[in-house]
Amino acid sequence: MEKSLPPLAPGTLYLVATPIGNLEDITLRALRTLRECDVVAAEDTRRTGQLLKHFEISKPMLSYFQFNEAKRSEQIIERLKGGEKVALVTDAGTPGISDPGERVVRAAVAAGLRVESVPGPCALIAALTASGLPTDEFHFIGFLPHKSGQRRNQLVALKEFAGTLALYESPYRIEKLLGELNEVFPDRTIVLARELTKKFEEFLRGKPAELLALVAKRSLKGEFVVLVSGEVELPAENADDAGGTH
Ligand code: SAM
Repeated sequence: MEKSLPPLAPGTLYLVATPIGNLEDITLRALRTLRECDVVAAEDTRRTGQLLKHFEISKPMLSYFQFNEAKRSEQIIERLKGGEKVALVTDAGTPGISDPGERVVRAAVAAGLRVESVPGPCALIAALTASGLPTDEFHFIGFLPHKSGQRRNQLVALKEFAGTLALYESPYRIEKLLGELNEVFPDRTIVLARELTKKFEEFLRGKPAELLALVAKRSLKGEFVVLVSGEVELPAENADDAGGTH
């Protein structure tokens, strides 16, 4: 373990992971980076402003989101070249994972600038590790496209994959997704990881048809990570989990 705490390095882009629901899930290093950086580039300055306020951090912010990513990336690169320490924060979790970040990281790397990860919460990893499904080999899809044909094609293309599949899905499309999984993967075990790290966190496990029946009885709200067991049969102890929750 590092005992000494070196100051932040000038001209470095810090990717700072923030809580996905539970404000206790922020690392000491994330807080120090937010305190000591020159500027916070935020996906949503209002939302990040609330987080900073909660931790009594006052810092200049600039907005960095999907639709101004190109322009903002250039500005961030100029600031980094000028020796500033920039912390990039998204609304929740790890920047760059189904969130803005990739473009500015690529630009910084191409410009020979330093990029550091300040690791922390990520819904994908929280869901996968507690799912009971194999973690040694997995394929992260993020969000499927909106168009039905494209969604189906992408799922069908992954039928042969032996590892666990992981998707992000909005609460408005969770039933639609379960219907699609029922068509493409009727015999696989599905794990819905709902509201991770929050008061109503739960893991719902079962075949797609079992989960569809559950959704028909009880409308499921909140945020979801959806996991699909791999092509290979799961060991017997997992088979008993079908339909279970916690
Ligand atoms: N960068 C984030 C991360 O590291 O997980 C993900 C951002 S993405 C825009 C948001 C999606 O992540 C949600 O639609 C949901 O699928 C998933 N997600 C985020 N927080 C979650 C939570 N607390 N419980 C379950 N899923 C969550």
